Amino acid sequence: PNFLDELRARTPIAAVVSRRVKLARSGRHWKGNCPFHNEKSPSFYVYEDGYHCFGCGAHGDAIAFVMQSQGAGFMEAVEQLAAEAGMEVPKQTPAAAEAERRRLDLHGVLDTAASAYQRRLHLPEGRAGLDYLRARGLTDDTIARFGLGWSGDGRGGLQAELARQDIPPEMLLEAGLLRATEDGRPPRELFYNRVMFPIRDRRGRCISFGGRILGDGQPKYVNGPETSLFAKRHTLYALDLAREAARAGQPVLAVEGYMDVIALHQAGFTAATAPLGTALTEEQLEELWRLSPMPTLCFDGDAAGARAAARAASLVLPMLAPQRSLKLATLP
Ligand code: ZN
Repeated sequence: PNFLDELRARTPIAAVVSRRVKLARSGRHWKGNCPFHNEKSPSFYVYEDGYHCFGCGAHGDAIAFVMQSQGAGFMEAVEQLAAEAGMEVPKQTPAAAEAERRRLDLHGVLDTAASAYQRRLHLPEGRAGLDYLRARGLTDDTIARFGLGWSGDGRGGLQAELARQDIPPEMLLEAGLLRATEDGRPPRELFYNRVMFPIRDRRGRCISFGGRILGDGQPKYVNGPETSLFAKRHTLYALDLAREAARAGQPVLAVEGYMDVIALHQAGFTAATAPLGTALTEEQLEELWRLSPMPTLCFDGDAAGARAAARAASLVLPMLAPQRSLKLATLP
């Protein structure tokens, strides 16, 4: 399922369909004459993640389109689209099935940790974190919507709490919540004395965390390490929420950090998203274009923000195409 998700995400469905059907832009979507029934006026629509014919009811995603239009089998269609996306189809071996099951387990581990962090924010130990978030102007509603939490002091509390729910330390290591030590001592909690920001995938499942320290400690933000679930260069913060909002017609914005995203959502810009402490990558641009043909980059008004915007602009130049462009907003 993970592989198929990734394949669907990396496959621009309008491009696949347009090899068979002449498509024209229709508002936020595309339309054309249905290839599956005879018609003179177009009732075949292509959306971000699928197609639908209002004439004959044909319906599906990119994989279904290849199957239906070429009479291909499921695996054949998957192989073809994967080759075009430069992806290798995983072998269906017992080892691969085991790896997939572990990834599903890891989502469960991370979701459980997110609930624990969230609960702690409202305990006396999380008070300073909650005060900080409120002082930054966040409402309780916003704090809940983003699942913000408190890490605890890192002295084994999280480990103990999750152990009681039958989650062993090895799973916490694999989920990126514990850090191995080199001198043979037991692994330690990666996040302590930090406000916790769950990072979710495009389907809203927790894949990692960012943590912000209170006060002037360094580093200000820490992100979880790369794991089998979390690849920084493919991930945009709040993408799950932004997808919904973009579909409802909200302008798609990419800003610099977690707090920018959250503040914008609270102010009604619910399709705001951000890379995770790195410069914007090609993969993240592709994600943005899946939401909108012309997203807006809005980085900070300082010199670093201006440099980041210039870097993004030169990255995007060779990728520009009709329906794939970018707007830059500058803040005085
Ligand atoms: Zn049709």
